[in-house]
Amino acid sequence: MPTARIEAVAPDSPAAAAGLLPGDELLTVNGEAVRDVIRYQLQADEAVVELELRRGGMERQVVVEKRAGAPLGLALSGPVFDRVRTCDNHCPFCFIYQLPPGMRKSLSLKDDDYRLSFLYGNFTTLTRFTEADLERVVTEGLSPLYVSIHATDPELRARLLRNRRGATSLRWLHALLEAGVEVHGQVVVCPGVNDGDALDDTMLGILDRFPRLATVGVVPLGVSDYSTEAEMRPHTLAESRAVLDTVQRWQARFVDALGRRLVYAADEYYLMADRPFPALDEYDAVAQHENGIGMAATFADEVAQAVAGHAVTGVGPRAGFFASVEGAPAAGYRAPRASGASLAVVDASRDAPVALVTGEYGARVLEPLLPALASVARGPVRLIPIANRFFGGNIAVSGLLTAADVSAALADEPTGHRYLVPDVVLSDDRFLDGGRVADLPRPVEIVRTDGASLVAALR
Ligand code: SF4
Repeated sequence: MPTARIEAVAPDSPAAAAGLLPGDELLTVNGEAVRDVIRYQLQADEAVVELELRRGGMERQVVVEKRAGAPLGLALSGPVFDRVRTCDNHCPFCFIYQLPPGMRKSLSLKDDDYRLSFLYGNFTTLTRFTEADLERVVTEGLSPLYVSIHATDPELRARLLRNRRGATSLRWLHALLEAGVEVHGQVVVCPGVNDGDALDDTMLGILDRFPRLATVGVVPLGVSDYSTEAEMRPHTLAESRAVLDTVQRWQARFVDALGRRLVYAADEYYLMADRPFPALDEYDAVAQHENGIGMAATFADEVAQAVAGHAVTGVGPRAGFFASVEGAPAAGYRAPRASGASLAVVDASRDAPVALVTGEYGARVLEPLLPALASVARGPVRLIPIANRFFGGNIAVSGLLTAADVSAALADEPTGHRYLVPDVVLSDDRFLDGGRVADLPRPVEIVRTDGASLVAALR
């Protein structure tokens, strides 16, 4: 039977009043096994909640009485207790196969679980989706979900996923959309494989079979130095431009047919193609911001608003269900980026010259914003673009910077300056290579990765 370990009990909560303790193992809620935090939240919603616990090897029953809908006050040991459903695909572009040896095991978890899609916005291919899953998604209203499409041609999709079921699993996408579930799709484009005519064909397939998709993000594959796939390579300039042209052409067709753009290209494409980003309003609701789509335009808008002294609500990391679910720590998936421990590492004067530490793509987004940023800063502002030597290849996004590369860059920098690092490089206070902020050769300030937070840090 799945077991959820209680990590913390909120003081003055109904769970605390009932005597629950960190370390207790939760076996059942109202007689039903605890499969995941989604189910747990529904189970714990009642006014009277019967819990079956194990403490010190002894089982016991606890009845908690509270207001219906009020949280119990428990933090549980993870989002899924009956095992995360792992993917049975072997996509040649999968970044997990391209990690350098010796990286943390949690980074190698190939999940393909609709529950993590709902909780954290992870993309699922639906190759392991079942009729029972469909029923649960619909009855429990698990919406929105995020689905990897890659190609609508069955043979090409099976080839891209290296899984025969890839040819048929989009039938579940159809069923989800028919049932009214909001679904966002993504196409990872591998040049020479699913770009060109194949991408056109995929767009046609979406219009024909999946017009109810909320959005579709078109993103380029990442290729690190550790890829062993001969067919997988970065886009050329011409290929990047061709993808943007295709997306633009299909946006117009979708507007004609459906009254909305539906498809959006990743920010990376505009950088690779050396073309300006679209205006923010061309991203509509910026629904795939977390997927790197409309992030640059949002950031520039946030900076402009904040510099002008306007309140900025921002898009930021996706809120959604995860923000409100009780007891759903994201460790291993979307862990909090930085805690007080990282945020406190500062020792330069506020008037010192400022350097913005960023990836190569981040630097290209920030560079045109420097005059506006300098206008609010107390000292001069410059960029420190850091090439990603850890992964190599075409990896240039800030979120994949490691402590090793940041350390190497900072070691040559003067002392007494302010070094601002975006929190997107951290997960649970650690860089991807496990390094910590406190180990960097210069004190740095971790700043939330949005334009308003950067302006506030500079003021
Ligand atoms: S579905 Fe995702 S996790 Fe699985 S192999 Fe493909 S890219 Fe990797």
